[in-house]
Amino acid sequence: MNQQVKKEASLLVHGYEVVIGFETHAQLATKSKIFSRAPIAFGAEPNTQACAVDLALPGTLPVMNREAVAHAIRLGLALGSHIAEQSVFARKNYFYPDLPKGYQISQFEIPVVQGGEVSFLLGDEKKTVRLVRAHLEEDAGKSLHEEFHGMSGIDLNRAGTPLLEIVTEPDMRSTAEAVAYAKELHKIVTWIGICDGNMQEGSFRCDANVSVRKPGAPLGTRREIKNLNSFKFMQQAIDYEIRWQIEQIEDGHAIQQATVLFNPDSGETRAMRSKEDAADYRYFPDPDLPPLVVSREWVEQVRADMPELPRQMAQRLVSDYGLPEYDAATLTQSPAMAAYFETAAKTSGQAKLVSNWIMGEVSRRLNAEEKDIADSPVSASQLATLIARIADGTVSNNAAKQVMDVLWSDESSQVDSIIEAKGLKQMNDSCALEAIVDEVMTANSPMVEQFRAGKDKAFNALVGLVMKASKGKANPQQVNDVLKQKLQ
Ligand code: ADP
Ligand code: MG
Repeated sequence: MNQQVKKEASLLVHGYEVVIGFETHAQLATKSKIFSRAPIAFGAEPNTQACAVDLALPGTLPVMNREAVAHAIRLGLALGSHIAEQSVFARKNYFYPDLPKGYQISQFEIPVVQGGEVSFLLGDEKKTVRLVRAHLEEDAGKSLHEEFHGMSGIDLNRAGTPLLEIVTEPDMRSTAEAVAYAKELHKIVTWIGICDGNMQEGSFRCDANVSVRKPGAPLGTRREIKNLNSFKFMQQAIDYEIRWQIEQIEDGHAIQQATVLFNPDSGETRAMRSKEDAADYRYFPDPDLPPLVVSREWVEQVRADMPELPRQMAQRLVSDYGLPEYDAATLTQSPAMAAYFETAAKTSGQAKLVSNWIMGEVSRRLNAEEKDIADSPVSASQLATLIARIADGTVSNNAAKQVMDVLWSDESSQVDSIIEAKGLKQMNDSCALEAIVDEVMTANSPMVEQFRAGKDKAFNALVGLVMKASKGKANPQQVNDVLKQKLQ
C-alpha cells in the first residue's frame, strides 16, 4: 500500500468515509445595519436598535451599506476569490415571527465573492478547503421565549445586521479537519477586521453539513447541523452525527436529508425540520435594490489597505527569524501575538528563545488567567530584557522563571532589580566554581571512584551536588565542563 492510500484508509470510520462541507455566518463588524442606518450593538434593550426599515414599515426602502461590501471584498482578497463586478440581491421568502418583511434579503444566484480557498496545517499536513462562495445577506430578529413567563417576545435589534455567509465545497474528511478549517477561517476574519469573532454572542456561527459513504461511492445524503457556536460543541456534534449516521445505515435505514440541532447537554443531534429546498423559498431578484457594482478601482483600494495575512506573516517569520514552521503558525494566532513576538525578538535578538517563552511560560500563564496577550502583565520589552539575561548567561532558564513570577504579579517590577533582590545571578566566575567542584569531589570520593570505574550515572549525581552547593547559581553547562575536566 502506498503512503497516500494508507493515509486515506486511516481516516475511515468503521469502513465509511466522512464528507463535510461548511456554511459559516460571519457577522460583519460595521457600525450600522446592512440596509439601514440603525446602529448595531449586542445586548442592547430589546427593540431599541431597529429603525423603520428593519421593522419593514410600508414605504421604507433598503440602501446598501458600503462598508459591508468593503468587508466582503476584504475576505475575497484574503482567500484568493474572484470579486464579482456585478452581483444581485434576492428575496428569500419564508414566514417566521422574527422576520417582519416576510422575506430575507440575500444574494442567491450571483454572490459578490466567488471561489477561493482556505489553507491550514492539520498536524504537519497542509490542507486546503475550496470555497464555493461568500454572499452578503441580512440577519433576522430573535424570538425570546424564557423571559416572559409563558409568553414569547420578538426582539428586532438583530434584524438587518450584515452577514457574510461563507460556503465551502464538501472537501473535509474528518471532524479534526472541519474544526481546523473553522479555526483558520475564524482567525482570518478577525485578523482582517471584518468580524469580531465572538462565538458566544453569535458573531461567527457555523453550520456543518455531514454525510458518510463507502469509499468510492457517490456522495451520501447529508444532514446539516445548525448554529455551532463553540469549537468544542462543533467537535462533539460532528463526532456524534458521524456515529449516528453510520449506525442508521448499518441498521438498514436510509439517511433523510434534514436540518438538525446539537444539544450540548445530551451531546446529541436532533432533527429540527426536514430540509427545505430552494424552490420552497421562491427566490427572485429584489426589485428594491439595483445590482451591486464593485469597480476594479474599489477592489484595488481595498487591496492597498489589506494587512499582511497570517500565512504570509508566518512565512516571513520563518525566513526572517529562522523559526520552525510550527512556531510561526502558533505565533500568528492573532495580530497581537505576532506583534508581541516581533518586538521581543527584535529587542533581544533571540528569536527562538522568545518563541519558546511565548509558546510556553507566557501562554501558560495567559491561559490560566483567560487573558489575551494584548492584556499580558509582562510587556514584550520586559520579556526581551529577561531573555537577553538568559542569553548572556546572567541567569539560568530556571532562575528566569522565578523572575517571570515576580514580573507577572507586580507590573512595576524590573528584570534586573528582581535578579539582584532575589540573588538569582548565575555564578560565572570559573575560579569560584572550580573551588566548589573540588570541595564536592573531596566530600564524595566514593562517587568519584564509581564514575572512574565506569558508572556513568555517577556523573549526573555529581553535577547535581555541585549545583546544590552553588545554591543553584552555577551555570549547568559550565559545571559539566569543569567536572569533566577534573574527572579525567
Ligand atoms: P444548500 O444551499 O441547500 O444548503 P448547497 O448545495 O449549497 O446546499 O450545499 C451546502 C453545503 O453543504 C456546502 O457547504 C456543501 O459543500 C455541503 N454539501 C453538499 N453536499 C454534501 C454532502 N453530500 N455531504 C456533506 N456536505 C455536503
Ligand atoms: Mg444551506
